[in-house]
Amino acid sequence: MKFIETRGNDGEHPQSVTFSGAILSPMSSFGGLYAPETLPDLGEDFLRNNLASDYKTLARNVLTACAIDIEQAAIDQALNTYDHFDDPADPAPLVQVRDDLYVSELWHGPTRAFKDMALQPFGSILSSLAQQRGENYLILAATSGDTGPAALETFKNRDNVRVACLYPDGGTSDVQRLQMVTEDAPNLKVIGIHGAFDDAQNALKLLLGSPAFKTRLQEKNIHLSAANSVNFGRIIFQLVYHIYSYLELVRQHAIELGEKVYLDVPSGNFGNALGGYYAMKMGLPVEKILIASNQNNVLTHWVNEGVYDLRDSTVTPTTSPAMDILKSSNVERILFDMFGAERTRELMRQLDQQHHYTLTQRETASLQSIFSADYCSDEEGKRYIQQTFENGYLMDPHTATCFKAWETCRDQPLKTIVYSTAEWTKFSPTIANALTGEIDTHDLDALKSIAAQANIAIPPMVEELFHKPIAQKTVINKADIEKEILAFLD
Ligand SMILES: *Cc1c(COP(=O)(O)O)cnc(C)c1O
Repeated sequence: MKFIETRGNDGEHPQSVTFSGAILSPMSSFGGLYAPETLPDLGEDFLRNNLASDYKTLARNVLTACAIDIEQAAIDQALNTYDHFDDPADPAPLVQVRDDLYVSELWHGPTRAFKDMALQPFGSILSSLAQQRGENYLILAATSGDTGPAALETFKNRDNVRVACLYPDGGTSDVQRLQMVTEDAPNLKVIGIHGAFDDAQNALKLLLGSPAFKTRLQEKNIHLSAANSVNFGRIIFQLVYHIYSYLELVRQHAIELGEKVYLDVPSGNFGNALGGYYAMKMGLPVEKILIASNQNNVLTHWVNEGVYDLRDSTVTPTTSPAMDILKSSNVERILFDMFGAERTRELMRQLDQQHHYTLTQRETASLQSIFSADYCSDEEGKRYIQQTFENGYLMDPHTATCFKAWETCRDQPLKTIVYSTAEWTKFSPTIANALTGEIDTHDLDALKSIAAQANIAIPPMVEELFHKPIAQKTVINKADIEKEILAFLD
């Protein structure tokens, strides 16, 4: 698999890069991304041959079909990270919740959210590549909650990679904060910022533009990379669970091989949905991909009206904070795949300069042949959590947004795979409130309440967080970030 640029080539970047090239330096010409030039055929023959494959075998076969420039030993080592999931043979269980609604649980990894599905193997691959080349990498991350813990967990104690992670102090849940500040490894630095997520993110942008910072990185021979979902090294692992969930439906005798299904995805930066899109283009029998959003419903308008509009929109904080995103990075890869580099560059330039773009009627129709979309308010989400719990299934507020799309976006009675992106433990105050009306300010109270009502235990890796020593104590003003990170590099 070769990778080409979503906004075309500027004459300075190479015309195409390999997989390792795309993951080590993910930004391409004109501020664009890398996307695959061609896709392998993973249609019926591939599916039939993998009916009996376990998750790791399937993943190995998908990566082999993609023909990436990573040694088999490094791939196998990366896939062994799934051995740390609850059930290594079935890291992403598929659970029937209603007649035709099946939930693919993507949160059985170490940090209890779906970011582990891709970041766990990605961390291993990036570190292997860095070691092979004798290079050192710095990953900088600003997080409002889920990417930070998953990035720290995957890179902890790995050679040739360091991670500095900024979070807004007071702006994450207790569990999310504890997952970060209890991580104790010499290659990790976690920094709380007095301020909101935007302050953390802006501070990071300032740092990236600072000449003193650049000079110091050069002196120390440290390269910068990214662990967010603009990095294709994450996307490739997100193909796998869509295919796996489909094969699970066949194995559970819910469908015949070849029968079409809906994929119903709670979307933020569109990495999850993009994985589904590529799987569909490679031959997975998908009727449509349903894009579920919260009140930050830019994607709903994009699919339904062909308009991407960021004018006078500000982020609304919701109970599904991992989806509180307006500028969804991976949409660009869809534009590129459907409409080509020239058009993508034009549309992305309009978005940067005028903060909106409008697709033609024809383009909108193409988009709608693949996607349908709807959004779910916090109140609606709360009702889905409560009703679904009464029917015997406990879910988090991100997963709940999919139930709205399941009700409104399907025009055929086909089986639907809903992707569950977080365990109940990660957003417990919202769930406890939906179940009983209680208002908890601390996660621990909410966790205990839910555990008692659902008659389940708090998982050990969550329970332990409340007793672990705090290893990362830095909480500073954003003006002091550069000094702090430079000291970490020394
Ligand atoms: C990251 C995240 C999402 C959004 O996924 P994208 O791939 O960015 O669209 C949804 N739910 C949870 C819990 C997440 O952590």
